[in-house]
Amino acid sequence: MNATGLTAIPFNVPHISENELDYLAEAVLRRFTRGDGPFTERATRLLREITGARRALLTTSCTHALEMSALLLDLRPGDEVIMPSFTFMSTANAYALRGAVPVFADCRPDTLNLDERLLEAAITDRTRAVVVVHYAGVGCAMDEIGELARRHGLAVIEDNAHGLGGFYQDRPLGSFGCMTAQSFHETKNVQCGEGGALLLNDAGLVERAEIVREKGTDRSRFFRGQVDKYRWVDIGSSYLPSDVLAAQLTSQLESFDKIQFRRQSAWHRYHEELADWAAENGVAQPTIPDGCTHPAHLYYLLLPDLANRQAFIGHLADRGAQAAFHYQPLHDSPAGLRYGRTAPGGCPVTEEVADRLVRLPLFADLDDAGLSRVIDAVRTYEVS
Ligand SMILES: *Cc1c(COP(=O)(O)O)cnc(C)c1O
Repeated sequence: MNATGLTAIPFNVPHISENELDYLAEAVLRRFTRGDGPFTERATRLLREITGARRALLTTSCTHALEMSALLLDLRPGDEVIMPSFTFMSTANAYALRGAVPVFADCRPDTLNLDERLLEAAITDRTRAVVVVHYAGVGCAMDEIGELARRHGLAVIEDNAHGLGGFYQDRPLGSFGCMTAQSFHETKNVQCGEGGALLLNDAGLVERAEIVREKGTDRSRFFRGQVDKYRWVDIGSSYLPSDVLAAQLTSQLESFDKIQFRRQSAWHRYHEELADWAAENGVAQPTIPDGCTHPAHLYYLLLPDLANRQAFIGHLADRGAQAAFHYQPLHDSPAGLRYGRTAPGGCPVTEEVADRLVRLPLFADLDDAGLSRVIDAVRTYEVS
C-alpha cells in the first residue's frame, strides 16, 4: 500500500493473449510436449514473418541463442568480441564461456546504442565479431557498423531482445546480423516465461545450428529421413524449448499486432504528455533517429543525476507507480574486469547514463487510467 491508497502499478505485467490457455491445453493433450513439435513450427513461421529471417530456431532463452552464436563462430580463447558495456550480462557471458574476450565499447549519448564512431579503435587482429544491442528497440547505425565489419572481416551478431518488430531504414531488426538472438522472457513484448530464438540470415550456418541446438547430434536430419540413424557429430547442448512453451509463444505471436498497438499508444502518451515537464526539469526523453521505427519496448527518462534518479523512483513509489533503473555497466563489473577489457577511450557515457536512467511502467494491459496516474505522478516531481 502507498500514500494513494490504490494498488501500485507494477513495472511490468505479462500479457495473456486470446488463445493462450487453449493452445497450452492442446499441446499437453496432444502428448507432444518435447521440442520441435507442431507449435514450434507455427511459432517459427510467425517469427520469420515478423523478422524476415531466412531461418529461425526457437531456443530456451536469448542467453542460449547467444551461446549458440558463440559456438557457431568457432571462437578460440583470446579471440575478441566487441559489444556495448551498456547491456545485459548474457551478451558478454555467451562469448566469455568460449574463452573469448568481451571488448566493451561506449554507447552513443542519444540512443544509448553502441557508438559506431568508437568501433574502429576497438578492433585488433584478434577481433572476430561485433555484437550490437538495439537498446529499447531503436536500431543501431547498421549501415556504418555493417560497412566496418565487412572491411575488417568481422561477423555481426544482433542481440535483438528489445527489438522484435522494429525497423532500421525499412529493414526489420534481426535481419542485419549473420545471427540474431531474440528473447521471449516474461519482461519482453512477446513472452512465454523463458524462451528465445536464434535467427539465421546466413544459409551456411543453418545445418550446423540445428546440430548445436540438438546436443551436437544430426537428429534433425534423422527426423527428416536424410540419415538412417542420428549420431554425435559436433559439440552442442540442449537449446530447444518444449512444445508447450511454443504453444504459448504461438498465441502471443498471433496477438503481436494487438500487443504492439497497445504498447505504442502507451509509449506515445508518455512521450507527448511528459514533454513539457521534461523540458522544464532538464530531463531527457528518448531520441529516435530518422529511419528508426521502434517497437515500444521501453519508455525511459534520463534524470540529471543519480540523486535525482533515486529520489524520482521513490517519489513514484510513494504515488503507487513502480519505476526501475536498468543496466549497470559491464566494463567495470567484477566479471567484466576479469574476463573482458575496455575499448580505448573508456565508457564515460555508459557510466553516466547507467546512473541517470529510469524506466516507467509499460505493458500491453496498462490502461488509460493507470497511465494517467503514472503521468500525474511524474509531473509532480521537481528536479532539485
Ligand atoms: C532480456 C535480455 C537478454 C536475456 O534474455 P533471456 O531470454 O532472459 O536469456 C539478453 N540481452 C538483452 C539485451 C536483454 O534485454
